Amino acid sequence: MITDMFGRNRLKVNLHLHTTESDGQKSPEEAAAIYQKAGYDIIAVTDHWKYRESGAINGLRTLSGAEYNIGGGNGAGGVFHILALGCEREPGIGKEDSAQSIIDEINGCGGMAVLAHPAWSLNTVEQTEGLEGIGATEIYNAVSDAGQSSRPYSGYFVDAAACKGQLYPLLADDDTHYYDGSDETNAYIMLACDPDASDAEILEAIRRKDFYATQGPEIHLLREGNRITVKCSAAVRISLFSNTVWAKDRCLRGSGLTEHSCEVQPFETFIRAEVTAADGRKAWSNTIDLR
Ligand SMILES: [Zn+2]
Ligand SMILES: [Zn+2]
Repeated sequence: MITDMFGRNRLKVNLHLHTTESDGQKSPEEAAAIYQKAGYDIIAVTDHWKYRESGAINGLRTLSGAEYNIGGGNGAGGVFHILALGCEREPGIGKEDSAQSIIDEINGCGGMAVLAHPAWSLNTVEQTEGLEGIGATEIYNAVSDAGQSSRPYSGYFVDAAACKGQLYPLLADDDTHYYDGSDETNAYIMLACDPDASDAEILEAIRRKDFYATQGPEIHLLREGNRITVKCSAAVRISLFSNTVWAKDRCLRGSGLTEHSCEVQPFETFIRAEVTAADGRKAWSNTIDLR
């Protein structure tokens, strides 16, 4: 747990990782030890088609999890990797189920259905806008920048979806597979939540977007009327993203930047922010709904 620049306690959480229970390179116990040493408060072990219930591994709290992937490897056909987080019981899901029935089953088990790595999956808004009940998506997925892939960042997808009114909570996750320095303890969320919160309360804090996603920097996005302000730890770049394709005050470059603000225009329906620190590490705010 850390205390942020506003004095709020935050839990360090990775909601997506694999172990030797599916295609990860470390056992659950080895993975938990790596995350515990790196100061994490909670992890979700999300092996493919292998549900793990909530509990603890050697003292590190685990939120129940699994990843259900359908659609094979051809992005043109609709590849969906859906995390089940915080379910109260194992979802009954088969490999022939549709994305919608997987999402429905996860929600029916009291969990949250997360659309994992939409950029890696080449998901389009046309593929997802008919889906009801997606609880969150990943704006950043670390393993998609490691090993055999280079599409970790889903900014285009989340902005295009937000243009259609889908303002998902935006997670950053490791999706750890290799544990070789490329994907473990790389991307996480800092969740404003009591350490003793129940699983349901953790999911509720995610649904409220009471977190920021990061590789290290701190970021906060604040609204006062039409004025939007970013406050952050020292950055070399602060960027704001909305449904406007261009505005002159949306990207600030420099050194030691800790604040930037802009006025939104009447036609803007959402806004979010990103910061980049001098070491290249990034942080991502959630979207603010301006409608
Ligand atoms: Zn996946
Ligand atoms: Zn995964």
